[in-house]
Amino acid sequence: MSSQQIWSMLLRVDERPWVAYGACRGADPDLFFPGNDDDHGEALRICRGCPVQEECLDYALSARERYGIWGGTTARERRRLLRRSA
Ligand code: SF4
Repeated sequence: MSSQQIWSMLLRVDERPWVAYGACRGADPDLFFPGNDDDHGEALRICRGCPVQEECLDYALSARERYGIWGGTTARERRRLLRRSA
């Protein structure tokens, strides 16, 4: 499954209305699913200006999203946040 397909599936507005306000709408999905965990600078820059960053991060943490950039965090950062809250 390509990053475009994953992105389309995850960003379903009917299931997650906040997605309609995401600063990443229309952005290249590959930015948010980088092959290398260190290659996420542009996605994080977009997230920093996003009005629904908090909702996005809440979603990613509750869904245990293992891949990609969500709510201004990398997968590694989310694992760390989840460990701290356990
Ligand atoms: S926080 Fe980032 S990934 Fe989440 S909706 Fe906003 S721009 Fe997209």
